[in-house]
Amino acid sequence: MLAIKWIREHQEQVQKAADGKGIQVSVAELLTLDDRRKQLLQEVEQLRQKRNQCSQDIAALIHAGKSEQAEGAKRQVKEINGRLDLLEAPQQEVEEQFQQLLLLMPNIVSPDTPRGRSDEDNVELERVGAVPNFGFEAKDHMALGKLHKLIDVPRGVKTAGTRNYYLTGAGAALHRAVQQLAVDLLTERGFQLLDVPLMVRAEAMRNTGFFPLGLDQTYRITGEDQWLVGTSEVPLVSYYSGEIVDVTDSIRLAAVSVCFRNEVGSAGRDVHGLYRVHQFAKVEQVVLCEASLDASEQMFQEITRNAEDLLQLLELPYRKMAVCTGDMAQKTYKQVDIETWMPSRQAYGETHSSSQLLDFQARRSNIRYRNAEGKLQYCYTLNNTAVASPRILIPLLENHQQEDGSIRIPEALRRYMPRGMEFLST
Ligand code: AMP
Repeated sequence: MLAIKWIREHQEQVQKAADGKGIQVSVAELLTLDDRRKQLLQEVEQLRQKRNQCSQDIAALIHAGKSEQAEGAKRQVKEINGRLDLLEAPQQEVEEQFQQLLLLMPNIVSPDTPRGRSDEDNVELERVGAVPNFGFEAKDHMALGKLHKLIDVPRGVKTAGTRNYYLTGAGAALHRAVQQLAVDLLTERGFQLLDVPLMVRAEAMRNTGFFPLGLDQTYRITGEDQWLVGTSEVPLVSYYSGEIVDVTDSIRLAAVSVCFRNEVGSAGRDVHGLYRVHQFAKVEQVVLCEASLDASEQMFQEITRNAEDLLQLLELPYRKMAVCTGDMAQKTYKQVDIETWMPSRQAYGETHSSSQLLDFQARRSNIRYRNAEGKLQYCYTLNNTAVASPRILIPLLENHQQEDGSIRIPEALRRYMPRGMEFLST
């Protein structure tokens, strides 16, 4: 959330960001509501002051034996109370409208963000690694999964409905192995690993910028103010909500979590295999740093590098994409996605998403630090996927398949695999 004072000073920039991100809000309407609420507040304050004065007068008049004038002052107090009662409802209404609209205001976007309407307008920055040129008819991950008994979608659907699955045998082992590889890499690089709540209050969702706009993407526990997280970014950032933190050295947090997404709006999209499911596991990186664009950019490079290093350890070809305005979330200032080569799609598919948010989340979550002058200031936050599985199993199985259907497990993963599963032979 941006401070209203800041929005007022940067009206055009905020409106442009909203238009670019496809968020239907009017900054002018917000400012009008702000004017109106201030005006109502002022009226209420003036009436209250007047009432206080009258009350003092009444006491003094009674004391001086001027009962007739005291009665007059009492009538005035009654009249003021009546006017205050009438103002209460409109004041509350305007305040609510203002707060609701304020929550919809988007973060601004970085000057180097490409303009565009959807992911089709994202701009390729770099390709790393060569895509395999199979000299045989390659199988897709579902066929490989069947061959090695790794993935069971029919039973997943039987138990939990569409877009659900079981991972079995070496499939379950690989799912855990990629996560542990990511956790080990991050902890070696100074990230603090947290085990986090996966059911959170609406407030935590709002504070981290997932509500109100992502409400329809989120599963709720019936009858409770408890929502299943779609990413551990929510509990990781919320860990410090309402606190004053020390970001002399940036705070690096990581978590392994199950993520739940109802994927509203993606009916009919990516229905084959493990690409888009309702429940998946993600190792996430979250950073809190000082409020400077330089520090944020430096941390952005660092968390993006971590994801790239993991992909290189998994020996997978990928490309980096500058995400355009129309494909960005409300909270995001700058975003780079990593897409990994998926042979069955004959295309790169998104596997990682690295974002800078400036103080958007910290402001909503009230996370501050003392700057060099000792003044309290909202910090900046960033996040990136380290690894998300089972989506990463798609390139992993497909890129490393051999002609006879066996699958080579990359060297870096082998030590995390149970004995006998360091190579999946047919
Ligand atoms: P996000 O938190 O939306 O930036 O997503 C981060 C990563 O999580 C994506 O790049 C995917 O690898 C993975 N992911 C997101 N949504 C899904 C889904 N519905 N099914 C499987 N993986 C997903």
